[in-house]
Amino acid sequence: MDKIRVDAIFGENVFSDAVMYERLPREAYLELLRVRQGEADLQRETANVIAEAMRNWAVEKGATHFCHWFQPLTGYTAEKQDAFISAPDRMGKVLSLFSGKELIKGEPDASSFPSGGLRATFEARGYTAWDCTSPAFVREDASGTTLYIPTAFCSYTGESLDKKTPLLRSMEAIGTQALRLLRLFGNTSSSSVKANAGAEQEFFIVDRKRYLKREDLMFAGRTLFGAKPPKGQEMGDHYMGTIPERVGAYMRDVDEVLWKLGVPAKTQHNEAAPAQHELAPIYEEANIATDHNQLVMETLKQVAGRHGLMCLLHEKPFRGVNGSGKHNNWSLSTDDGLNLLDPGKTPHENLQFLLILACMIRAVDRHAGLLRESSADVGNEERLGGNEAPPCIISMFLGTQLEDIIEQIVATGEVTSSREGGKMHTGVYAVPDFEKDATDRNRTSPFAFTGNKFEFRSVGSMDSIAEPNVVLNTIAAEAFREAADVLEKADDLNTSVQELIQCWFMEHQRVIYSGNNYAKEWTEEAKRRGLPIITNMVDAAGELLKEDTVRLYESFGIYTRAELESRAQIQYEIYAKAINIEARTMIDMAGKQILPAVIRAIGEMASSMNSVKSAGIGADTSVQEKLVIMASGYLKDAQRALQDLKETADQAAAMEPGFTQAAFYRDSVVPCMEALRTPVDALEMMIDKRMWPIPAYSDLMYEI
Ligand code: ADP
Ligand code: MG
Repeated sequence: MDKIRVDAIFGENVFSDAVMYERLPREAYLELLRVRQGEADLQRETANVIAEAMRNWAVEKGATHFCHWFQPLTGYTAEKQDAFISAPDRMGKVLSLFSGKELIKGEPDASSFPSGGLRATFEARGYTAWDCTSPAFVREDASGTTLYIPTAFCSYTGESLDKKTPLLRSMEAIGTQALRLLRLFGNTSSSSVKANAGAEQEFFIVDRKRYLKREDLMFAGRTLFGAKPPKGQEMGDHYMGTIPERVGAYMRDVDEVLWKLGVPAKTQHNEAAPAQHELAPIYEEANIATDHNQLVMETLKQVAGRHGLMCLLHEKPFRGVNGSGKHNNWSLSTDDGLNLLDPGKTPHENLQFLLILACMIRAVDRHAGLLRESSADVGNEERLGGNEAPPCIISMFLGTQLEDIIEQIVATGEVTSSREGGKMHTGVYAVPDFEKDATDRNRTSPFAFTGNKFEFRSVGSMDSIAEPNVVLNTIAAEAFREAADVLEKADDLNTSVQELIQCWFMEHQRVIYSGNNYAKEWTEEAKRRGLPIITNMVDAAGELLKEDTVRLYESFGIYTRAELESRAQIQYEIYAKAINIEARTMIDMAGKQILPAVIRAIGEMASSMNSVKSAGIGADTSVQEKLVIMASGYLKDAQRALQDLKETADQAAAMEPGFTQAAFYRDSVVPCMEALRTPVDALEMMIDKRMWPIPAYSDLMYEI
């Protein structure tokens, strides 16, 4: 096996700052830094210089093409490749060309990307614009080597049609407002604040040949039929167990590709469910982390093919088995290395931290619906609320230490102590004692404080992390702005901060919950507390249209009303399309594969019963008879449900896209899908495995 040296290959395919520093004229590099800080506009001359250096570097790496890489509202990335080539001259010769204009602006036809009504097909023009905060890179695979330029994507009229533009806007908002707070507390040394994200990515790995035998996995990304295997994750033997060699070899290749792309992949382990795994990177600025998470997902899928595997990113590929999420770890830090969410050893004395904490609690409580919405995607519907993932109610877990501080402040307006972690005595001579964290974890919480960051755990495994970070940045910026507005005018900062903190802790304490979020009682309790309970994606999309939401986003120039309306519309359309595909896939599989196999199996059961009978030895055939009758009963149920599903899906497909159609899919089509699945899963449990036409859960999950 070849040895990989991470330090030698890390970032080798990235047009990084180190490369630019080396290859660009000093003036051009400095100008780029100013552009990134928002202090200057990029001059055409400089763009040309950067483009040339970028092309030379990419061509040396073997690149023949470049592309503007963007993140339309599909949730996937898109690219349009162009060769580095000029028009042939009279002698038929071409030059390898790439201009500043091509670097900073592209014009993909936008008409095939979702716009939610923002752009009619006859106004098809869309633009991609270079995002110089995220580094360009080359990607190499069997199809060749290409230079990738991260870009934002917008319509001819300037509305954003992508996930990156609002994210960049929200990064500016949080940066500005956080700096105001720092200045209040006397910090004059930091010059910028950035939001960071670290996305822990969960996924399933299955054998490719088996995958190709299941239309549901191929078309819908999840199983639409399937009886639960006798053994799931109950023994806990898969979680952090030894990584199977085949998967290990795959992960090694994944790491190698990612490291070359400058993605700091760090941790991998088996997850709770059989065949489930996790990959966590080291955190980065949220916009770069978002690009990198897309690269992680694409690399996981691409490299799997080389190993005869398939990577399932769907949130719930197997019913009855844990699903996959993406923990979005979020924090704020300054350019000189301070983490604003670090409480220090004695948080009760850290007024700045307590203020930021109060702001975060206010932000989450006021905009819980938006956080819920940002984690809504079709697959996550199957997961949120299950007995594994955070439920659809947004609450915060802060841990005993901070909760104790908040209680002291709420009760008395003051706080005099912080609980400490103390030493962990292992009781084993050879194992050193270590400092315990002051707080245990709560794995059921959708939004947990984990030491020096917040971990938003509801995000779906397949979803982009752009939107959750837009929401986090914006709602935090709003609370920071409010605090700064008050405090900048205060005569006595300390007293005013304390008053504000007490007031906000009191007002928003209801969002803090340290119990078991999976318990039924929590839903009741949350209702009593008046917390929003948004059980599905269609309702969640409505959060985008609320006046409060529009005001929030418009006040920071992050989304316009029209952009929010278009995004809600797109959510409805995505939901309807996804359920439609699932319904059609079920119809196809049941009609062409499953029911015919069942009929054959029943025929065989009946003829074997008859041959026993006709042997004339008086053997009891009542069991066979019962089984034939039972299976025939399920077959009849399935046939009826299939008919219902066909009719209902046709009705749904004929409706106008929008809320009403999406709600119809949710309320009418999904129940019909359930009604078909139930008898089919029952049949799977009673029919000869050799006759079942598709691989079973156990074949997919245990045989890697
Ligand atoms: P935990 O033990 O809480 O899961 P880890 O250190 O394993 O924490 O990190 C989990 C994820 O959180 C990783 O992707 C990591 O990069 C990210 N992370 C760690 N610290 C921060 C931070 N300050 N801001 C954002 N993400 C962070
Ligand atoms: Mg985690």
